[in-house]
Amino acid sequence: MGFFSENPAIAVLCRALISVDQFNMKVFKFGGASLASIERIQQVAAIVRSFAGEKLLIVISAMGKTTNDLEKVVQHFYNGQKELALQLLTHIEAQHVAVAKQLLQNPAHPVYHQLQQFFTEAEWTIGETPVQMYDYYYDQLVSLGELLSTAIVSAYFNENGLQNAWVDVRDIFRTDDNYRDANIDWEVTQRNVTEKILPLFNAVPLVISQGFIGSTDENESVTLGREGSDYSAAVFANLLNAESQTIWKDVEGLKNADPKLFPNTVNIPQITYSEVIEMAYYGAQVIHPKTIKPLQNKHIPLYVKCFLNKDLPGTKISDTANTAQLPPLIVLKQQQVLLSIITKDFGFVTEKSISGIYDIFHRLKIQINLMQNAAISFSCCIDHNPEKIAALIKALQAGFKVTYNEGLSLLTVRHYNQPLLDELLKGREALLEQRSRHTVQVVY
Ligand code: ASP
Ligand code: MG
Repeated sequence: MGFFSENPAIAVLCRALISVDQFNMKVFKFGGASLASIERIQQVAAIVRSFAGEKLLIVISAMGKTTNDLEKVVQHFYNGQKELALQLLTHIEAQHVAVAKQLLQNPAHPVYHQLQQFFTEAEWTIGETPVQMYDYYYDQLVSLGELLSTAIVSAYFNENGLQNAWVDVRDIFRTDDNYRDANIDWEVTQRNVTEKILPLFNAVPLVISQGFIGSTDENESVTLGREGSDYSAAVFANLLNAESQTIWKDVEGLKNADPKLFPNTVNIPQITYSEVIEMAYYGAQVIHPKTIKPLQNKHIPLYVKCFLNKDLPGTKISDTANTAQLPPLIVLKQQQVLLSIITKDFGFVTEKSISGIYDIFHRLKIQINLMQNAAISFSCCIDHNPEKIAALIKALQAGFKVTYNEGLSLLTVRHYNQPLLDELLKGREALLEQRSRHTVQVVY
């Protein structure tokens, strides 16, 4: 290429060829549930094998409930219960080594040493006396889960003819130091992807890396928010100009409601990015809400498929879905609190007082799920979080009288029809309702 690129026209052509090549790449994401047993990990390998000949960047989460366990390690450590923290860490280590032993043939595989190094680092952290804030330690310890899972899966794949390169995503994803919800530095990350990831595909068809984690410019580990691996995959897809992203889940695809809460849900074969963003906004826990934007910006379709049966059609999320055929989309948020904020002097609720109220919510990082204002009152629905609500009421009491109602639900239906609403609300007392042409929201 050095020889050709002397000629500017050919250099342009070469670049075009490279980007065509990039365009063939797919990004896959496998979540914790797909790695929760030996059989499932073997199933993941079978799925990847069925894409032989393709270039795949594979993003993997921590195995099973490892992230929850690691959160407990952090809590023990921060509460000064080092023994408990170490005990639990040892347990997590034993679990991972046991999985590796069941998957790998070579008892002296170098991955055992790699795993041990990760654990030694975590033990060092636990050995320290906490001087920094909680979220910092959270990220240093909880990031372990993805490092372990990817190391094991990569080793297992390589032993079984799925030739791959393991990448520590902390060398790729540069972020700020907003621990537990770090923000990607797109420029640096793009450079790393181009310089460090793309060349790997000249040698191997598969690159395996971690979801959910990244690193600051001081080499401190960060996490991107719980369930953030979907988002990591989308960042990779965007920066690689991938042809598509697929999230492999234990469900058929996206459904019009959570089957655990509603009977008779239906599968959605195709849906637009905007609809999914709306659903996530209203609280549907389908895909990590930050996932869609990086894909939408580059028109990269997102497939949600079932790892238990890869032949099921799943859901395609893209620009072009036909939304005329969408069923009503139902999102239920439980454990809601309805606050009524009334001006103390019975003055009207003005732009100024609303801006003061919003300021308090913003400062306390409380999200308003629904709000409505009338002459002398402002009502809003928020998640039930006792500590935050106590702080909120305290802050509001200077200027307002606050009453609240807990144990409520917030129902959102997009593309609603009246018979369905009547059925969903039968026997319930609606406390607040908002309707637009497409969407109705009811607190009951
Ligand atoms: N392992 C992380 C979590 O459980 C990230 C993810 O699964 O996406 O939250
Ligand atoms: Mg997970």
